Amino acid sequence: MTDFDLLIFDCDGVLIDSESISARTLAHAVTQAGVDMTPRQILIEFTGKSESELREALVERGLADVDAVLAAWHADIYAAFRRELRPMEGIGDIVAELDVAKCVASNSTVERLGNSLGLLPLWADFAPNVFSAEMVAAPKPSPDLVELCLSKMNASRERSVMIDDSPAGIQAAFAAGVRAIGFVDPNDPRSGRREVLMAAGAEDVAFGAGELRLLLQRLGAYRARAERPMEVEA
Ligand SMILES: [Mg+2]
Repeated sequence: MTDFDLLIFDCDGVLIDSESISARTLAHAVTQAGVDMTPRQILIEFTGKSESELREALVERGLADVDAVLAAWHADIYAAFRRELRPMEGIGDIVAELDVAKCVASNSTVERLGNSLGLLPLWADFAPNVFSAEMVAAPKPSPDLVELCLSKMNASRERSVMIDDSPAGIQAAFAAGVRAIGFVDPNDPRSGRREVLMAAGAEDVAFGAGELRLLLQRLGAYRARAERPMEVEA
């Protein structure tokens, strides 16, 4: 027995290395539509937000035809995902080795999850336990999505851990009474991520998959599957 029943993984920026692709393609889409934003601004302002929050933020910035811009962006980003999307470095090994129930809690839409995580072998490690903010009343930082994970996975909040790279995800876990570990892509261009995630309520912060494995081991939430017995020669 491990000390934990469930690991809840955020998708973008934790399981998949999607945020730079997302920021680049969205910056292009909004700039084409007359609202100049750099990929870095997009990364700082919009990362971790749900699509409905993104829609509101773009309207506030004066974007006229948000539906058309988002439709063009979707076509562009899904094509880019098909060409370039990779798992976050080292995360596939952790997921494959875990011997604890696991699920995904993402502020992405169901459609985007299918067009991102769904392209990678990681999908099969989680399906059908891939949960989207579209399935609940309010996205992270509301606790709704974390509560959905607990109930679908029949897990207790005390024996669950959530891993997320955005303050919204950490706040959602905290609000649901689930311990949260912040995750930072070592290639993230933004500074001060540890402080941001700790301030949101993270118990600790991992820079990259190697540190995440160590933190999970320390929490007792991680145990590698028993090695497959060696084949005995006849
Ligand atoms: Mg994320």
